[in-house]
Amino acid sequence: MGGTWSVKIPRLATTSPSADELQGQIQSLLNKLDGTLSLWKPESALCKFNRSTSTDWHEVPPELADIVEQSLVISRQTDGAFDITVAPLVLLWGFGPRDFHLPPSPPSDSTIAQALPLVGHHRLHARRNPPAIRKDIAGVQIDLGAIGKGYAADAVAAHLDGLGITDYLIDLGGQLKSRGHSLSSPAWPIGIEEPTHDTRRILLTVDLHDQSIATSGDYHNFYDAGGKRYCHEIDPRTGRPVVDGPAAVSVLHASGATADAFATAFMVLGVDDGIRLADRLGIAALFVRRTTGSFTLHPTPGFPWRSDAR
Ligand code: ADP
Ligand code: MG
Repeated sequence: MGGTWSVKIPRLATTSPSADELQGQIQSLLNKLDGTLSLWKPESALCKFNRSTSTDWHEVPPELADIVEQSLVISRQTDGAFDITVAPLVLLWGFGPRDFHLPPSPPSDSTIAQALPLVGHHRLHARRNPPAIRKDIAGVQIDLGAIGKGYAADAVAAHLDGLGITDYLIDLGGQLKSRGHSLSSPAWPIGIEEPTHDTRRILLTVDLHDQSIATSGDYHNFYDAGGKRYCHEIDPRTGRPVVDGPAAVSVLHASGATADAFATAFMVLGVDDGIRLADRLGIAALFVRRTTGSFTLHPTPGFPWRSDAR
């Protein structure tokens, strides 16, 4: 998934596996998920499905059917702003596996127009029993970059819950999931960083209570070409990276996968449409807009930010 992970557990019961054992268990769980869901491993179940040109049901490991099913629900909720069939566009814009010896450059209008008909969540289907996924047209491909880390955080949490561990903070490439409390606080206080690529300053702090928080932004994964900045959140409706969108969006949710996916969807929808949808669905989110030399914060009413942090 192209990132690092950490898990903090303030104290382990004597009956619990040791820290070393837990680290090994979590690493193998993540290796297994990555081996199934990765776009960067040619032998992953995901890549095999992407290469397949068949429009019949394609049997996959249960995790892949499950994450596709969850993704399709969120696509419907966001009217297609979140859409894992965006893969051909992600590749065209240079944010997927590519020749890293060459700098990425924006594709031509005609290549975008050719790729757009392959993008659309209604062309993808999932079933759980037996686990399988299916595409309506041969060229449909999936990219789980906007939901995989949150999904994996949910899987690590389920593993720790199964061992009876009641307090933890999971960090999977910046998508966080917590339960219980930290050493010094009845929740897990976490910092949201300023959406700038060259500094690491905390913008504000939130207390995580048995929740996940995910942040998407235009400041980590982007490139400049021809005087323009291209970020890796792609608007499936236009086939182009989000322009003039929020600098960052953070989403709180019980589910890590949902938080991760909605953070990306809200980047695509922008502040006004994003806040309207968050309100309607009862999702707590913080939209951060870049202004000259500063940031303006647009939290939904339920977003529990601490005003003392700024
Ligand atoms: P990060 O990986 O930095 O947390 P995101 O969660 O926003 O960022 O995921 C961005 C990635 O998701 C892109 O690199 C791409 O692989 C994929 N992606 C881009 N746009 C969309 C979209 N509209 N819907 C679903 N996935 C997307
Ligand atoms: Mg995301």
